Amino acid sequence: MSSINGKMNSRDRVLAALAGGKVDRTPVCNPTSVVTVELMDLVDAPFPEANRNPELNARLAATGYTELGFDSISPYFTGIHESAALGCDIQWEQKDNWPTVVINPIWDHPDNIKIPPGFLEHKDALTIVRSIEILAQNFKKEVAIVGKTFGPWTLGYFTFGVQNFLLMSIDDPEMTKRALDKLKEISVIFGEAQIAAGADVLTFPDHATGDLVSGEYYRRFLLELHQEMAERLDVPLILHTCGYTLDRLDSIAQSGMASFHFDSKNDPAEAVKIADGKIGLVGNINNPVTLYSGGPEQVRDEVNKCMEAGVNMIAPECAIPLATRLENLMEIPKAVREWTERN
Ligand SMILES: [Zn+2]
Repeated sequence: MSSINGKMNSRDRVLAALAGGKVDRTPVCNPTSVVTVELMDLVDAPFPEANRNPELNARLAATGYTELGFDSISPYFTGIHESAALGCDIQWEQKDNWPTVVINPIWDHPDNIKIPPGFLEHKDALTIVRSIEILAQNFKKEVAIVGKTFGPWTLGYFTFGVQNFLLMSIDDPEMTKRALDKLKEISVIFGEAQIAAGADVLTFPDHATGDLVSGEYYRRFLLELHQEMAERLDVPLILHTCGYTLDRLDSIAQSGMASFHFDSKNDPAEAVKIADGKIGLVGNINNPVTLYSGGPEQVRDEVNKCMEAGVNMIAPECAIPLATRLENLMEIPKAVREWTERN
């Protein structure tokens, strides 16, 4: 294990935590975006261009490590890259707003699901792969590079439409399973390309969230499929699901994923209890109230609460609002270090 002054470097720290091993302190590892308008200005890499140009993308992503002091770099800021390459329309927006997938169904039946030839060569898929190559070259294994590939449930929302996909899951569970089986190959292809480019870890967002589907749905449609993803993708996976998830966390803990990125709607101590060491946890600093509207003191209180609970890696609960103040973000690693010194 490489070390700096006898301490672990950021990459070693994240990978050790994901493997359930010993760490010199709890890593601050963001599975989703921590970029802000302020960071875009600082390195002259604004949205939307920073989502379409690998050099700008890498430059902006690196600020999570170089400016904020996190132990990871996550270059996939949004939810658009594989969907754009599949042929979905993208609303590119301006500097102060997220590009999003325009939910205008491209498929309506499992038989229609086709990965277009040249999917990985599409400009918008390639941006992330190339950016990871640049980051891997520049940072020489000193920081964890976290790629991202969307799971089949979320891809179903993007390509079938949220309503249509949820209706299909009620009307025809078998057809839904067939669709998921085909959609999961997109997750694998995009994930493997990022691993080959140098990603150390992949975030795997799959939004079977409590706001939309029941815990029973997770067991029926996704548990086995997530186990398969954890076997096929050859890096530690971090499952990301927004919203309330404590009612399905015992199933998620059996998914074989290395960690679960969880929302502040879930109490950290309860989550640690249910996860019971079967899966790591990363989170769950609140975005709208704490990081966006609060100050460093509120951030510190929440970090301390997660540290007391034994959350394995500390991070914002989801992609942070683009107008979040840097002092609030920088308070996360600061509070983690100070908690560690006190304990
Ligand atoms: Zn989220």
